[in-house]
Amino acid sequence: MSFRRESLPPMDVVDRSARLRARLAEAGCDALLVTNVTNIRYLTGFTGSAALLLVTPDRLVFVTDGRYRDQAAAQLAAAGVEADIEIGRTADEQRTLLAGAAKGVGRLGLEAEAVTWGQQRRFAGEWFPDAELVPTEGLVEDLRRVKDAGEVARIQAACAIADAALAAVRHRLGEAPTEAEVALELEWQMRRLGAEGPSFDTIVASGPNGAMPHHRAGERRITEGDLVVIDFGALVDGYHSDMTRTVAVGEVSAEQRRMLDAVAEAQAAGVAAVRAGVAAKDVDEACRAVLREAGLEDAFLHGTGHGVGLDIHEAPRVSANAPGTLADGHVVTVEPGVYLPEHGGVRIEDTVVVTAEGCRTLTLAPKDPTL
Ligand code: ZN
Ligand code: ZN
Repeated sequence: MSFRRESLPPMDVVDRSARLRARLAEAGCDALLVTNVTNIRYLTGFTGSAALLLVTPDRLVFVTDGRYRDQAAAQLAAAGVEADIEIGRTADEQRTLLAGAAKGVGRLGLEAEAVTWGQQRRFAGEWFPDAELVPTEGLVEDLRRVKDAGEVARIQAACAIADAALAAVRHRLGEAPTEAEVALELEWQMRRLGAEGPSFDTIVASGPNGAMPHHRAGERRITEGDLVVIDFGALVDGYHSDMTRTVAVGEVSAEQRRMLDAVAEAQAAGVAAVRAGVAAKDVDEACRAVLREAGLEDAFLHGTGHGVGLDIHEAPRVSANAPGTLADGHVVTVEPGVYLPEHGGVRIEDTVVVTAEGCRTLTLAPKDPTL
């Protein structure tokens, strides 16, 4: 496969802050101080590691430090975002800039899940002593659930890179490599194919290690009779992919075969249940019911899935107690698994885009476990 970053369609960054503003009143604030850098990236196109963004009804004030002076100007311009870009070289300078910009703001929203206790104390005591600070939750994250065409194209490109990397490396599992060697080769292939990097620490969990859902990749040598859980993804322009395949090396036992069949059936049932308007917990139940029927529900140790985007795990959650409903343009994973210490683990995971009619699967690597 070949992948060209220039061929990615543009994203609609400009409208995002307008959609955020429309939600401020309902959240009980007149302005929002965005401190989560991933949310700042979403709203402005800025990819650096340090910035603060004040969103008021009529302006965006973007504050960063000297390291990002030129990058901030270039990236916000490229995204078409109009903001007052201010450079504060020290925390004191940043405080002065933002305190000035927030003058007259009565109720200032903070992102409760991104602000530390220490920051909150400084914001309340020194930065914005005259404002009423309002904790908010998920204001930007809720917008991020629905992906535009440019975002889906990036996730799809990341999924295609992961598919190709697995195709290139899969045959190596029969050559008794260590888990770490397989992980390294997958990551090398993804980089070679144009990814910025892996989207998280690659999981290669073989034999008994497979019974730990988030085992990473260690020195264990993959051997005949192993189930190998491979969970990995690529990063493209900040967007993640997420896919799991389980490969059976050589002959597997009757119980392992039963686990493979049950998880395959559960995963297919979960994907079939995905559609705009469906409660996320109903997708979880579609998977869970199959595993319950097979007597394996107690071995399903996690929820069915999660949103994927600028973060590897983001809203919406797809689990037994998830509150939300899936909507057109959500990108979620469906990843049931069973974990039995004597037999190992099986997990199958796809990343899908929710549509009105159902969903479109972006991770296309074959699921046949046979090596
Ligand atoms: Zn995964
Ligand atoms: Zn996942």
